[in-house]
Amino acid sequence: MKITDVEVIHCRTMNQGRRAGTRWGYGVWLDAEETEGTAAITRISTDEGITGHMLGGNKATMEGPIKQLLVGENPLNREKLWHWMDQMSTFGHSLTEHELGVVDCALWDLVGQKAGLPVYQLLGGTREKIEAYASTYPNLGGPEVYVELAQDCVKRGYKAFKVHANICWDPHIPGPAPQLPGFPKEDVEICRAVREAVGDDIVLMLDPFGVYTLEESLWVARELEKLNYYWLEHPMVETRVEAYRRLTQETRIAICSPEHIKGGPFARAEWLLQGACNMLRVDMSYGGITGCWKVINLCQLYGVQCELHGVGAPHVHLAAATPEATCRYYERGLLRAELDYEVPPPHLHRITDPIDDEGYVHVSQNPGLGIEYNWDYIDDNRI
Ligand SMILES: [Mg+2]
Repeated sequence: MKITDVEVIHCRTMNQGRRAGTRWGYGVWLDAEETEGTAAITRISTDEGITGHMLGGNKATMEGPIKQLLVGENPLNREKLWHWMDQMSTFGHSLTEHELGVVDCALWDLVGQKAGLPVYQLLGGTREKIEAYASTYPNLGGPEVYVELAQDCVKRGYKAFKVHANICWDPHIPGPAPQLPGFPKEDVEICRAVREAVGDDIVLMLDPFGVYTLEESLWVARELEKLNYYWLEHPMVETRVEAYRRLTQETRIAICSPEHIKGGPFARAEWLLQGACNMLRVDMSYGGITGCWKVINLCQLYGVQCELHGVGAPHVHLAAATPEATCRYYERGLLRAELDYEVPPPHLHRITDPIDDEGYVHVSQNPGLGIEYNWDYIDDNRI
């Protein structure tokens, strides 16, 4: 089998009322209205007529250097292609780690189509459903807003809930603010109110998204320990490995990081060696399924949890191929009261992480990644 083409398909779609980004970075303006947007889908075609797809992909990269690299190659040699792409992303400027991840996921989808098997079983299945935690939008408002959302999530079956509190956002304006200083006191007030509202049986986490100093992180960690939180995620900018090492050594609560450090599995292996976290974190934007799988297995061998970051079919399949002792949760969101997360965008027939009423996400049994594209809609709305 040989790859014959790589292309990116663009279509009009609707965004779920989210306008990401301020001049400070991650802070989001919440917008109740749906807005028109663009969906990108990367397609890898072969001489056998079998194709692989993944959501996302930059047209210039995929139809330029990636197409040059892949055409004529056997798509079943994913590991070889992964190492080639890793070299491209390490030494050149022609490929980001995220784009590498998109290509790798499309290749896994392709081999799943060829084999007639879902990706999680190609990796080696361990479970068909994964416990999800509800992951909130940041900057929702005061403690009462988070309490209401948490109670609603518990009613819907979630047994774990993660707070994104004030991120690049000054709650006193309220309005966008630089990443530092953060608002640790206000964040802990939200965390305390949520714990008091849901009781001790619900697992809780906090993700400040890198807005604290080391001293603030130490203080928040100790407050969260009193509130019986399960983990403190990504509290500082992740280029400060030594600060993370100190934080991890001096606190009892699990420190879960690095989420956004470049260098894919290699950088994460170094964090493990440095003792800079208690639980590692990875997602498909840092090496695709192949890169995540290396990190997950490294963690498993050392008895360290590897909690996958973010949503999407690749993460459902990875978690479904990993024992609960290594990856306990699937992150589901981001959630807020005004948003109906269960409704798929028009370019998909189904959302990629359907949940049952006990808080478990079920992995697709369709071949490959099992993403159900609405090709009629996509063809009618192609850009
Ligand atoms: Mg995070």
